[in-house]
Amino acid sequence: MSNKRVIVIGAGFSGLAAAALMAKEGCDVTLLEKNDQPGGRARVWEKDGFRFDMGPSWYWMPDVFENHFALFGKKVSDFYELKRLDPGYRVYFDKEDLIDIPAKIDEIEILFENIEPGSSKKLQSFLAQAETKYKTGMGEYVFKPSHSIAEYFDFDLIKKSFSLQLLTSMSKHVRKYFKHPKLTQLLEFPVLFLGAVPQNTPALYSMMNYADLVLGTWYPMGGMHKIVKAMVSIAEEQGVQIKLDTEVTKINIKNGYVQSVSTNKSDYPADLVIAGADYEYVDQHLIDEPYRNYSKKYWDGRSLSPSCLIWYIGVNKKIESIQHHNLFFDEDFEQHAEDIYSDPKWPQKPLFYVCCTSKTDPTVVPENCENLFFLMPIAPGIEDDEAIRRQYLDLMISRFEKITGEKISENIILKRSYALNDFKADYHSFKGNAYGLANTLKQTAFLKPAMRAKKIKNLLYTGQLTVPGPGVPPAIISGQVAAQEATKYLRNV
Ligand SMILES: Cc1cc2nc3c(=O)[nH]c(=O)nc-3n(C[C@H](O)[C@H](O)[C@H](O)COP(=O)(O)OP(=O)(O)OC[C@H]3O[C@@H](n4cnc5c(N)ncnc54)[C@H](O)[C@@H]3O)c2cc1C
Repeated sequence: MSNKRVIVIGAGFSGLAAAALMAKEGCDVTLLEKNDQPGGRARVWEKDGFRFDMGPSWYWMPDVFENHFALFGKKVSDFYELKRLDPGYRVYFDKEDLIDIPAKIDEIEILFENIEPGSSKKLQSFLAQAETKYKTGMGEYVFKPSHSIAEYFDFDLIKKSFSLQLLTSMSKHVRKYFKHPKLTQLLEFPVLFLGAVPQNTPALYSMMNYADLVLGTWYPMGGMHKIVKAMVSIAEEQGVQIKLDTEVTKINIKNGYVQSVSTNKSDYPADLVIAGADYEYVDQHLIDEPYRNYSKKYWDGRSLSPSCLIWYIGVNKKIESIQHHNLFFDEDFEQHAEDIYSDPKWPQKPLFYVCCTSKTDPTVVPENCENLFFLMPIAPGIEDDEAIRRQYLDLMISRFEKITGEKISENIILKRSYALNDFKADYHSFKGNAYGLANTLKQTAFLKPAMRAKKIKNLLYTGQLTVPGPGVPPAIISGQVAAQEATKYLRNV
C-alpha cells in the first residue's frame, strides 16, 4: 500500500496509534497536529524545573500498552520503567479518616473486612465477576468497530453479554455486595471520574474495579508523557511524518470521497483520512453539511463526561503526609454528581483529586520541592473565568491543608490553571469536555458516535468520543481499530 496517502488528524493517543499502524502497513502517513507538541490531552508543561503531566495521571490496564508496543516488536521496558504504586492511592474521608489502597489483593481484603465485617468474601466474588467482564470486554467487545448492532449477533457473544450486566446500574450492583459508604464510594469512584453517575452507568464498568484493585495502579518513571514519547518514536520509526503547529481547517470532499485536507499551512492530498481530533469538531466544523454524520441537535443531546478545573502547583517544600494519588472524598458524592449532571453549575462542595508525581519521581521537580496537580470535576459547558478558578483553588487548598495538616499556601512558587476555555482553545473540545462522552448505556458500543463516516467512503473517526470510549487505554485501542478498518478499506480499493 506504499502509494496510499493516509492523513491522520490529531496526535493524541488514538491518532498516534492509528498513524503508526497505517505506516506499518506500508502507507505514506502524515500526522497533522494543531498544537506544538504531540500527546493531545496528555501534553506536558515544564517550567522552572517543575514538570507536570497536563492530563492523564492514572496508568491503568498495563496489558493494553504492552500489547500495543508488541505490535511493533517492542516492549514497554524498551521505553520507560514502569513502577507499581503501593499504596495505589489514598482516599481521605475526613481529617485523620483515610484509607490507603494497598497493591496486594490480600491486604485489600483485610482492609475491606476491617471496614465492613464479611466484606472480604464478597469482594472476592465481586472481583471474580469483574474479571470476567474485563476479560470478555477487553477480549472481544472492545475491538469491534461497532458499525452496526449486527456485529453483536453472535450466539456466544449474546450469551456472554448477560455476564456483562449491561442493564443493571453500577450503583445497584455495588450495593448488592457492600453497605458501608466508604466501600461503595471506593468502588464507584472510577466511574464518577470517567463520566456519568453510578446510577446511570452500566454494571459492566465494574471491570474498572478489576483494573484498579487487581491489575493495579502504575507510574511510568519520568511521567505519563513517556508513553507519548514512546508512541512518537514508534510512529517515526515506521515512517510517519508528524507535522506540529499544523491545524486542519477543512476536509475537502467530492462525490463522497475525501480528496484532501486543508491546513493553516498547506493542503495535503489524501486517499484516506483518520480523524483523531475531537469528533464533534471534525463533524460539525471541518466537513460540509451534506456529508456530516450527525446534526447539531444530535450533539446537543449527547451526555458528556465531566470537564475539569486543574491547577498545576509547584511548592518549595516536601509534603510528607500525602501519597502519589490522593482523592478528597470529604464532601457529599451525590451532591457533587448533581452539580455536574442534573443541574450543571460550579459545585457547592466538590470532591477533588491531588496528584503528586514527585512523591515517586524526583526528576520532575527541583530539589526539596513537590509538584501538585489539583483536579476538580465540573460540568461541561458552564461559565469559566480566572476569578472562579482562583476561588476554587482557595477552596481546595484550604481543605487540603485542613485534612492533611500540611500548610502549603505560603510555599507556592509556581501555579497555572487549566479549565473549560483551555480545553476548547487547545483541543476544540465540545463544551470544554475533558474525557469525551459519559459512559452511559445509551452511549455504549454501537450507540456511540460511529467510527465510520456514513456519507464519506474514505474517512474514519477515532479517539475518546467514538468506540470504545474515554481513557488512555481505550484511546489506543480506538486507534488500533480505526487502523484495522482503514486497512480493510484500502486493500479493497
Ligand atoms: C485532565 C484529564 C485527566 C485524565 N486522566 C486520565 C487518567 O488518569 N487515565 C486515563 O487513562 N485517562 C485519563 N484521561 C483521559 C485521556 O487522557 C483521554 O481519553 C485520551 O488522552 C484521549 O486521547 P484522544 O487521542 O482520543 O484525544 P486527544 O488527546 O484529545 O487528541 C486529539 C488531538 O487532536 C488535535 N486536534 C484537534 N483539532 C485539530 C485540528 N483541527 N487539526 C489538527 N489537530 C487537531 C488536538 O490538539 C489533540 O492533540 C484524562 C483526560 C484529562 C483531560
